[in-house]
Amino acid sequence: MTALRPKRALVVGAGISGMATALRLSQVGWEPLVVERSPTRRTGGYFTVFMADGFEPSRRLGVIDGIRDRADPQGRFLEMDRRGRLVPGMNPAAMMPMDPSYTVLRGDVEKALYDALRPRAEIRFGVEPLALRLGRDHVEVDLTDGVTERFDLVVGADGMHSTIREQVFGPEDLYRRDFNHVVAACLLDRPLPWLRAGDNLLVVDTRRSVAVQVFRDHDPVAMFMYCHPWPAAEIRKRPAAALREVYGDFAGPVVPDLLDALERAESTLFDQISQIHLSSWSRGRVVLVGDSAWSLTLYSGFGSSLGIAGGELLGTLLAEHGDDVAAALGTWEHRLRPVVTKHQKSAHFAKNFLLPPSSPARLLRRAVVRTAASRAGGKLFQALLPASRATRAAGASKNPIGGTAR
Ligand SMILES: Cc1cc2nc3c(=O)[nH]c(=O)nc-3n(C[C@H](O)[C@H](O)[C@H](O)COP(=O)(O)OP(=O)(O)OC[C@H]3O[C@@H](n4cnc5c(N)ncnc54)[C@H](O)[C@@H]3O)c2cc1C
Repeated sequence: MTALRPKRALVVGAGISGMATALRLSQVGWEPLVVERSPTRRTGGYFTVFMADGFEPSRRLGVIDGIRDRADPQGRFLEMDRRGRLVPGMNPAAMMPMDPSYTVLRGDVEKALYDALRPRAEIRFGVEPLALRLGRDHVEVDLTDGVTERFDLVVGADGMHSTIREQVFGPEDLYRRDFNHVVAACLLDRPLPWLRAGDNLLVVDTRRSVAVQVFRDHDPVAMFMYCHPWPAAEIRKRPAAALREVYGDFAGPVVPDLLDALERAESTLFDQISQIHLSSWSRGRVVLVGDSAWSLTLYSGFGSSLGIAGGELLGTLLAEHGDDVAAALGTWEHRLRPVVTKHQKSAHFAKNFLLPPSSPARLLRRAVVRTAASRAGGKLFQALLPASRATRAAGASKNPIGGTAR
């Protein structure tokens, strides 16, 4: 009698979505091979909000303890007024009707996943797929390390500018919906004299803003976001030069300091802010997961938690459906799509809070923040919270990705 061969998956991309998928596949008896274009594991990265949708899947994956909430209870929420003075801001997590969330560094989440995955799966750095040939029940892939291998499934978790999507579904332009916004993020190489450990600062102007998060035991992170009519052309510029053009007129110590720090930064993420919209996330034995499939944008706040939840659910459903991979992929998409659609829509609303499109919108936002930051306004928001919590609790059992419990 011949032993049953474990199913093999090629997971392209060792980001949050790819490693979560590979980890779950390894737990349910598949044999994943992860290929990552970067020569080594990424360790830096920006801060993200990690939402409740990711808590329970992270627990099932065994990585929840490594996902550390770096929010500091002593930290202040600050904004900067037009004269360059720091004024009270609002804590969105405490004020807005949201599920509980963590403030995490992307690097922390990736490390937790990598540490769990490394003993269970082969990870090849500096390798990417060259060509894919789709068969009825397999995919043959030529890799850049000169090897050709056959897989039962290829998972494209290679981010917003996915090569797998390009090769199998078609050019990015068909699926990318631009916000006409640009983001730049970098680590700051020294403490900021005007902020304390744990502080959060938002500088919000019409069509441009900056967010700074100061951690207790990690370099501060700065994130610049601004509107631009031609973001694809803008991101070809040198980040420091482009940002000086946009933010160079800011007075006061804060923004000029940040621009100097950006000039010194070892690496800067500089990209346009876009969503990906596909009518189907799989084609034959190729499936897309995470930003490559649905890029929600930073405005939604759900990209990393849904990357984990989506990858974990995919592995679980593949195990449940056994040899019927098509049924697993269909069920997966059916369960996940309403959640993704909801967060893609909410990003359009949230973007106006971080990047007011006009002066009246900025003034309205400022009035809301001032109210929320005051004692009476804060109480009003808090009074509204229990109702929204109850509503969410009622819907939690129906959560199609089963992710609310902590
Ligand atoms: C500035 C910024 C702020 C954000 N803030 C938040 C937030 O507050 N909350 C939140 O939930 N989400 C946030 N997000 C989104 C979140 O970071 C992502 O949704 C999440 O990290 C999941 O990404 P991913 O793994 O799908 O893709 P990625 O992180 O892009 O990973 C893709 C991986 O694939 C690799 N790769 C690419 N091409 C190839 C190839 N051809 N072959 C092999 N490997 C390849 C890349 O090197 C990379 O390692 C933010 C994103 C940005 C840019």
